Amino acid sequence: MNIATKTVNVVQETAALLEKLGVAKELYTGGDMASFSPVTGEQIASLKTVSAAEAAAKIEKADAAFRAWRLVPAPKRGELIRLLGEELRAHKADLGRLVSIEAGKIPSEGLGEVQEMIDICDFAVGLSRQLYGLTIATERPGHRMMETWHPLGVIGVISAFNFPVAVWSWNAALALVCGNAVVWKPSEKTPLTALASQAIFERALARFGDAPEGLAQVLIGDRAIGEVLVDHPKVPLVSATGSTRMGRDVGPRLAKRFARAILELGGNNGGIVCPSADLDMALRAIAFGAMGTAGQRCTTLRRLFVHESVYDKLVPRLKKAYQSVSVGNPLESTALVGPLVDKPAFDNMQRALAEAKAHGGSVTGGDRVALGHANSYYVKPALVEMPKQAGPVLEETFAPILYVMKYSDFDAAVAEHNAVAAGLSSSIFTLDLQEAERFLSPDGSDCGIANVNIGTSGAEIGGAFGGEKETGGGRESGSDSWKAYMRRATNTINYSKALPLAQGVSFDI
Ligand code: NAD
Repeated sequence: MNIATKTVNVVQETAALLEKLGVAKELYTGGDMASFSPVTGEQIASLKTVSAAEAAAKIEKADAAFRAWRLVPAPKRGELIRLLGEELRAHKADLGRLVSIEAGKIPSEGLGEVQEMIDICDFAVGLSRQLYGLTIATERPGHRMMETWHPLGVIGVISAFNFPVAVWSWNAALALVCGNAVVWKPSEKTPLTALASQAIFERALARFGDAPEGLAQVLIGDRAIGEVLVDHPKVPLVSATGSTRMGRDVGPRLAKRFARAILELGGNNGGIVCPSADLDMALRAIAFGAMGTAGQRCTTLRRLFVHESVYDKLVPRLKKAYQSVSVGNPLESTALVGPLVDKPAFDNMQRALAEAKAHGGSVTGGDRVALGHANSYYVKPALVEMPKQAGPVLEETFAPILYVMKYSDFDAAVAEHNAVAAGLSSSIFTLDLQEAERFLSPDGSDCGIANVNIGTSGAEIGGAFGGEKETGGGRESGSDSWKAYMRRATNTINYSKALPLAQGVSFDI
């Protein structure tokens, strides 16, 4: 079903939103980098990019800002993020709408992304009074041992198109309360939402008053500008979100200069539906996980293993949901599935479906949905029943394709689930306590996120987010992820009049 209710001029609305959000016009007009909306395929801006030399100068400036900011008490740094949260609340509707225009998300997901920014700000404000170190028992009398956490420096953030603003906030809110400066290289596919986020940050900065200039900056540019950030000696940590291909380049470059990395890379997320599963619940979770955001979440459900005893009850219902889901312009309709980001994404999807067929797959959906715009790419989500896990099933295709496979043995299903290179998110649908616990146990799911009776996507900010294996091993957002943005010093203080050495060593001179 395709729904259309009103007509929106994407170009005009983008300009109006940018003005309202306070983005200076010269930043997005008359520049050398074109920006498009996947909603209609139209060009919506021409942005000014930075040269490598300008990017390096911004990093130097951020480093100078860091040197002052690290001396500001952490709870005061938290005040800046509290103000950022307030500004985001005030501009939620406009920024959410811009996310929908630039990334093609349906309205509730565009708004949801801004809500995630607000949530992490709240979390970071509390954290600004909780950057705790341990006090540790020492073996020497008259001594005290403790650990202290200090800021690191300039934190580089490289982000992907599909979460154009939330990923920056996950990193920036924590990095700033921890006493760092932040330099952000957003995706070249979504630079406008980055400029808008920066403008919102600058409002918070103006209200805060005396923060050092250059504390948070944006570098508009392509991959080469990302490389400047990765290679710069004054950037001790880069948090890079994107494809595994990108991480394979960025990771070794950072390691070569002993800089730290938070790598948040591709996922090939799986789910298992067991005999006891609540199938109504599973159906809804699978539908959102696999078709939501047009399959363009790192946590999108891509592989489903269904027990043979429930396969014929669940899969026909799923197919029906695939056939009836509404695909359409997210700005003009109540459609649940918006566009793919661009033509290469569409071509990759079609290639994967052809390969799946060659491996014996039976495809429902996957066709292009014409909405009257030559350069926008809407598709029917595809459900592919596969005889086994092979070919394209083993890789992430960043599009709404769900591969469904039948299983009979629980252990074999878990082994198959883990037999891919990525290790981001996973879920099991079962009412059997033993199966649920085994999935979460050391020989269960090998992913950074393992869920029971909810889908693979839609994480909350309170938990640490990230995955294993080719997903890169990074963790950001909640829990103790903040520690990645700080350096730990172990301090031993001798308040006695003697100098006992550890391990009973004697060295009397
Ligand atoms: P991408 O890898 O094409 O680009 C991501 C960012 O990296 C962009 O800003 C790009 O300019 C930059 N970049 C690319 N190569 C670089 C290099 N060699 N050096 C420095 N910067 C470089 O990814 P995309 O198409 O924008 O996003 C989709 C991918 O991101 C998917 O694979 C998805 O799973 C992944 N993703 C992962 C997470 C996560 O948290 N694990 C979250 C969102 C997206």
